[in-house]
Amino acid sequence: MDLLKKLSELSGAPGREEGVREFIKTQVEGLADEVHTDVMGNLICRKRPTTGSGDSERVMIACHMDEIAFYVRRIDEDGFIRVQNLGGFDTRNLFARRVRIETREGDEIIGNLNPGGKPIHLLSEKERKEIPKIHDFFVDTGLDEEELRRRVRPGDPVTLVQDFVEMGALVSGKSLDNRAACWVGIRLLEALKETAYDVHVVFTVQEEVGLRGARTSGFEVDPDIAIAIDVTLAVDTPGVGPEEQVTELGKGAAIKVMDSSTVSHKELVDAFVELAEGREIPHQYEVLPLGGTDAGALQRVRAGSKAITLSIPTRYIHTVTETLHRGDLRATVELLAAFLDTEDR
Ligand SMILES: [Zn+2]
Repeated sequence: MDLLKKLSELSGAPGREEGVREFIKTQVEGLADEVHTDVMGNLICRKRPTTGSGDSERVMIACHMDEIAFYVRRIDEDGFIRVQNLGGFDTRNLFARRVRIETREGDEIIGNLNPGGKPIHLLSEKERKEIPKIHDFFVDTGLDEEELRRRVRPGDPVTLVQDFVEMGALVSGKSLDNRAACWVGIRLLEALKETAYDVHVVFTVQEEVGLRGARTSGFEVDPDIAIAIDVTLAVDTPGVGPEEQVTELGKGAAIKVMDSSTVSHKELVDAFVELAEGREIPHQYEVLPLGGTDAGALQRVRAGSKAITLSIPTRYIHTVTETLHRGDLRATVELLAAFLDTEDR
């Protein structure tokens, strides 16, 4: 899990994915026939068909590189940094967080993120019940205003810091949404020897702010079949009834039927289920009432594509303790490779 650890601990705010992209480039070297970065920053890795008649269907596999994060909004007179969020944070999970600011000089400044207001010891009964808003949060770097203004400017990315750890069969860390999929994309390129498809594994940008990178890279690739790889809610923990469960850790790759951005193409749902059953690859169905993936953009690119998402069940999504099962990761690679590898299909 060294590769996933490295991916997880990298910083990649929406629009500032360059660190993640440069790292992935080093990992995919020699695994694809063509690799290029488009104008928005999507990394497009193409593997040409090795078998078939030459009239191959194009498959695009989208793995977003960005993570929910902040940008510096302004610096207060007393040297505190105010931030703008990119993507959906639950503010209850943002108290007492360590963050990293990437400066334009290329160095980083560590700070603490907390909401404004009094410590709990001084709060009234009523005040204790109030949940702070995202704009109440600020970063304390310990640096004085003058030094801060010299080194930091509005627009510098601010990302959460957390070590990646292995816990039994599970792994946990920040940004597994969606570095887990980046891991899948890299491992897939390693595993894929023969294919009759024209495969494009695309590491996309700005998914968390509205599937933006998928839109432009999808236009370029113009896929017949689009497969987004992303994490999905597990909801298999205390306090939630089985009727609210979406997926379960350790039960395999989740074949998405629908979410609020896409209804997966029926042919693809059937093909993946049949393949998983036939090969005995652990799998489960996913019906997600809310939320979406890059598949939402890819399904409607140009004249449309057959689209689906394969998901990796994950607990505590959009916190720094995102947790998933390594068996589910392997099952996702296996299922994708089986789909693309027509040799033994
Ligand atoms: Zn995601």
